[in-house]
Amino acid sequence: MTNLTTFETARFVWDYWMRYPRLFYACIGLVLAMAALDVAWPLVAGRFIDTIAGELPDQQVWQLLFIIVGVTVLFFTVRYIMYRVWIVFAANVMRHLVGDAFERVQRFSSEWHANEFAGATVRKISRGMWAYDTYADTIVHALLTAVTTLIGLTIMLTILWPVMGVTVGVLIAIHLGVGYWLSANWVAPANNIHMAADSRIGATMSDAITCNAVVKSFGAEDREDASFERVVRDWAGKAQFTWIRSENAVMFQVAMQVLMMAALLGFSTYYWTQGLATPGDVVLALTTFFVIDGHLRHASYHIRNAQQAINELDDLVLFQRQSMGVADRPDAENFVPGSGRIAFENVQFAYANQPDPIYEDFNLTIQPGERVGLVGRSGSGKSTFVKLLQRLHDVDGGQIVIDGQDVAAVTQSSLRQSIALVPQDPALFHRSLAENIAYARPDATREEIMEAARRAHADEFIQNLPQGYDTEVGERGVKLSGGERQRVAIARAFLANAPILVLDEATSSLDSHTESIIQDAIEELMRGRTTILIAHRLSTLRDVDRILVFRQGRIVEQGTHAQLMQKPNGDFKQLLETQAAGLVF
Ligand code: ATP
Ligand code: MG
Repeated sequence: MTNLTTFETARFVWDYWMRYPRLFYACIGLVLAMAALDVAWPLVAGRFIDTIAGELPDQQVWQLLFIIVGVTVLFFTVRYIMYRVWIVFAANVMRHLVGDAFERVQRFSSEWHANEFAGATVRKISRGMWAYDTYADTIVHALLTAVTTLIGLTIMLTILWPVMGVTVGVLIAIHLGVGYWLSANWVAPANNIHMAADSRIGATMSDAITCNAVVKSFGAEDREDASFERVVRDWAGKAQFTWIRSENAVMFQVAMQVLMMAALLGFSTYYWTQGLATPGDVVLALTTFFVIDGHLRHASYHIRNAQQAINELDDLVLFQRQSMGVADRPDAENFVPGSGRIAFENVQFAYANQPDPIYEDFNLTIQPGERVGLVGRSGSGKSTFVKLLQRLHDVDGGQIVIDGQDVAAVTQSSLRQSIALVPQDPALFHRSLAENIAYARPDATREEIMEAARRAHADEFIQNLPQGYDTEVGERGVKLSGGERQRVAIARAFLANAPILVLDEATSSLDSHTESIIQDAIEELMRGRTTILIAHRLSTLRDVDRILVFRQGRIVEQGTHAQLMQKPNGDFKQLLETQAAGLVF
């Protein structure tokens, strides 16, 4: 993972702030007004004491009292208005931030998604959203207020007593400068390691919980507990280390504060003994110390907070920078579905993390309406063929042309909408069955959904569910069997009504009775569509127009079922014989 600089994160946040420039600058203006009122306070307090001590005419007492109360009331009024504006600003920025992250992550390549833990990604996004909140609050309210007030107070002191003012200014600068340095170079690196360990907790947990069925089937709960325990123990060690560092940084700042108090009181008392300062001036110095101390005390806490928030925001910044993997070209147009002619022309392809290419100079043409079966041993490249067709990966050479359009030149969503896929293990959303079926075409009416379900022979089992089409299914809803989910996927394909149909082992989870029923449904689904059928059970391929036999990314044989049977030592014949012998391949 690249380490981002504080500046890069600030830049990222700034771009979001600038989406609402008027609200932003209004908040800044109000924050500065608050700082000015804060600086006025010690001045007024000092004059008040002088009046009481009889150094100024009596009638000014009430006037000054009135000013003190007025300044305080004004301060809180400005503060209230500022927050009212800020709330609107903050909520809107967070809305964009989380929306953009979701939008981007959804569009990352399937390769990316295959390599990331879903749970960790979800955590990164929501953590980043709240980290922004902390970051913005800290920078604008805490640090900006603190810095402007401190500068204001230093200037005021310098005007009154130059030596004291400059001394205090230097101490403040050291406090903030060294404090920031410690936090960025000493606490933050430890915190990065701590946060990585924290993410690992989430990832480990979601991995084990997602695969809970596997864990159960191997009775491996204790084993998972033990490896989780290792991850948590590692986190705890790193957390302690980080927290101790940050407490030590606080100790440095406390020392600076003590020095500052000594300086302010020392100087003012000295001036008083010399007759250069009134009692009110000593009060002014003391009050100034309290105001400075309040800001500095929190400044160090806020710097640490901002630093941590910056670290947590990194993930969102990285999401924004991360290349999509497979991206639409800037000039990409929508795919225009035609008759469904597919051509692979000199296609070259290797998975990023594999040394050898799977496809080398691969050529194949599929005619409109043709039914093509793909067979071959596991790992021979059948699913890869489909993934390339959907452009889930980009080819390294050559091109894939559908209906005269290079798949790399059209928008991905329009391309994929033209290819209906019935996968081996279809996933369902935690939504109603009707919504799940209509996922292929969200504007489908209830009648169309039911018609599609009937044609997919899904209607029968749906009728028996507690709330029929309104039953919630998926992760947290009613569970459907593999065969039932496949029929939902087939219904989706009916609704999608795409010119190209891909069936990846679509009937593998069905018993022979149901299979024969929905074989009719699939037959109807295939009518008039270019169909690619991946099948392990070779008997299901009797009626296809052409069978392609894959071996290590090459088509080693092709022809009809009958033709391939003729080849004495052909791959297909061998596959068939292995299957007939009841062996799995
Ligand atoms: P099966 O019958 O088991 O589904 P298949 O013919 O569909 O196999 P593919 O999934 O196309 O095989 O895989 C072809 C080769 O590519 C395999 O060696 C596999 O290990 C590799 N492979 C598949 N997906 C990836 C990936 N995302 N990254 C790297 N290598 C991959
Ligand atoms: Mg496969």
